[in-house]
Amino acid sequence: MKVHEYQAKAILSEFGIPVPKGGVASTPQAARRITEELGGSAVVKAQIHAGGRGLAGGVKVVGSPQEAESAARNLLGKRLVTHQTGPEGAPVSHVLLEEPAKISKEYYLAIVIDSGARRPVIMASEAGGMDIEAVAATSPEKILRVAVNPIIGLQPFQCRNLAYGLNLPADLIRPAATLIANLYKVFQAKDCSLAEINPLAITAEGQLVALDAKLNFDDDALFRHAELQELRDTDQEDPLEVEASKFGISYVKLDGDVGCMVNGAGLAMATMDVTSMADAMPANFLDVGGGATEEQIAQAFKLLLSDKQVKRILVNVFGGILRCDVAARGIVAASQEVEVKVPIVVRMLGTNAQEGRDILAQSGLGVTLVNDLKEAAQMIKQAAVAG
Ligand code: GDP
Ligand code: MN
Repeated sequence: MKVHEYQAKAILSEFGIPVPKGGVASTPQAARRITEELGGSAVVKAQIHAGGRGLAGGVKVVGSPQEAESAARNLLGKRLVTHQTGPEGAPVSHVLLEEPAKISKEYYLAIVIDSGARRPVIMASEAGGMDIEAVAATSPEKILRVAVNPIIGLQPFQCRNLAYGLNLPADLIRPAATLIANLYKVFQAKDCSLAEINPLAITAEGQLVALDAKLNFDDDALFRHAELQELRDTDQEDPLEVEASKFGISYVKLDGDVGCMVNGAGLAMATMDVTSMADAMPANFLDVGGGATEEQIAQAFKLLLSDKQVKRILVNVFGGILRCDVAARGIVAASQEVEVKVPIVVRMLGTNAQEGRDILAQSGLGVTLVNDLKEAAQMIKQAAVAG
């Protein structure tokens, strides 16, 4: 789960990390009032669950409350497109107004889970600011990396090494080491998958301050964080993924045109491989789970049908606890609510497979039933040609 910058900064602040003074507004009038309270000038920042705002017009420095009001009016209610949002952009319903900082230098600081190293890794760079992806691509040596043993925890010497590695002024080594330690506390306490400060700035007054903040949380740990669940903003999420999560279906939207419906994560991955072997790309990862009900199957199938990018559907069910006839009934139920305009290829094996296949064959849906994955791949290919 992602949260907005202003929410992330509130959490960082609770853990002793310095952030600029500011307030959040959902109307131009409120933006004006907050700017007055800040002393007349502000940075106006569009709140969306994506970065790249600075380069996309989502961050404006203004010199008066009137300017803040009009900058807010230009952002609120619109969709902001950045290189991280995709062409459809993300809706701006809040702007953050902050006391402008005079920046003397920008650094990058983040903690992520490195699945290769199987531990949290702290990344830091002197080349912070807007385009860390470019730094990683062209001069990766400019990014320092320190892995943290999760049992021993982050050690003070590691924080100091990072601070020295960033070539910080001598009087900021200690504050920086403390800040890194505090960010690690946030990361652990809140079950983050990402905690990022970019830029971490040194101001003209020689102070460290987190000018931007991004926190992502591990969905599987949210059950123990009621305080984080309240921060969720589903307007920022893919509508199909929001819908899927209501029904307990694992669904991730992808870029291809083959809608896949599968029971079990391993089978889902195998099915996506088969799809690629058919020179096609999956439109989604969709796992209804081992014990899905007819209702869940129907909801999952409706998700596929309502995705405009889906041009063909591949269903791969291995009947166990989920019986094939139940899956077939779910598919038929969904197609009675949403019109089916795309070819459907189904492979069903396992418990009550014949019954399931009969239900589909008699449904009038024009389903192509196949026996194995090779055949499934061929049919998916043909469906593209036919389509
Ligand atoms: P992002 O582009 O979505 O990551 O948004 P950021 O919050 O990182 O802002 C982008 C850029 O705006 C930063 O790298 C800074 O250069 C600039 N910026 C942000 N806050 C301030 C501020 O208070 N004062 C000044 N002068 N620049 C700022
Ligand atoms: Mn940033």
